[in-house]
Amino acid sequence: MSSRVGNYHHYSGVLHVHTTESDGTKTLEEVVAIGRQVGLDFIMFTDHMNLTNRDRGKEGMYGNLLAVVGYEHNDLDDNNHYLIFDSPGVYPKDAAVSDYVRVAAADNALGIIAHPDEIRDRMGKYPPYPWTDWSVDGYQGIELWNQMSEWMEKLTPSNKLLMAFSPRKSMVGPTERVLRLWDEISLRRKCAGIASVDAHAFPIKVGPLTVEIFPYKVHFRSLRTYIVLREPMAQDFETARAQLYTAIRECRLYLANLRWGDAAEFQFIAERGGEIITAGERFNSHEGVTLKVSLPAQAEIRMIHNGRTVREALTDHLIYRVVNPGLYRVEAWKGSRGWIFSNHIRVGV
Ligand SMILES: [Zn+2]
Ligand SMILES: [Zn+2]
Repeated sequence: MSSRVGNYHHYSGVLHVHTTESDGTKTLEEVVAIGRQVGLDFIMFTDHMNLTNRDRGKEGMYGNLLAVVGYEHNDLDDNNHYLIFDSPGVYPKDAAVSDYVRVAAADNALGIIAHPDEIRDRMGKYPPYPWTDWSVDGYQGIELWNQMSEWMEKLTPSNKLLMAFSPRKSMVGPTERVLRLWDEISLRRKCAGIASVDAHAFPIKVGPLTVEIFPYKVHFRSLRTYIVLREPMAQDFETARAQLYTAIRECRLYLANLRWGDAAEFQFIAERGGEIITAGERFNSHEGVTLKVSLPAQAEIRMIHNGRTVREALTDHLIYRVVNPGLYRVEAWKGSRGWIFSNHIRVGV
């Protein structure tokens, strides 16, 4: 459900959703219906190596829900999974990662690195699919938090039963290593930090039982990516889709685990002489800049400057006077559980 916060309009959605066109278990229409029930503003579908849903004209506005269709590209070793939106078509299956990232950028498509740092070796049947080639450039974003990856990473043969029945309990937040990597990349250039559900709702065997892990509805009530717009989202599909893609490219984003509370009212802004900007935007000087964070409920707020925590407080409201130029972002934690993560505001850099 959209909300208006100050001069901005916030919209929440989910990225990285599979349907029956690859290894998901519901059709696009069925998934959209679930999304509407739980108040999503947008869904970004990404089946493996096909754009069938888009080719069949299924992108569009479904009531107030915007459904867009990209796809998930992988290389011949099944690594380097890349979410691609707005490309003219599906790139060749035998392309190397450097090729599909480069060609997508040349086509002005929107490319997001999926589950960049999957590491798991405890479950032989479910190997990791990490990003292996960091020499490539031309991507627009990176998954900071992939719900399915996080779940799989914590899975061991002995906790499988518990984790299958309460899948959201295991969620903590983006890993330190991926946050560090993202901060480093962002110091060089813009890079959107997004949350992905990676929804399939596939069944797994737990002893004699078959359990559906993360039904779509559970995913949609967990990890969301919010876009922050200056204008309301258009009712017209083409315009709304362009607004969504532009917000991601510009990093006007934050992400949240709704398990710990709704995040529609979250606000992170910078103020300077009456002018206000938000994540993804920039002031060309740091003189006289104040950062303001406001949360819907009390949590541990961390103000991060160029990857380092410079202020920490248990509150629902934080004001921080900028001393040094650089990149600022905030994290909100409920105890040991990550709740809200903003993208960067650039100040004097
Ligand atoms: Zn993948
Ligand atoms: Zn996937």
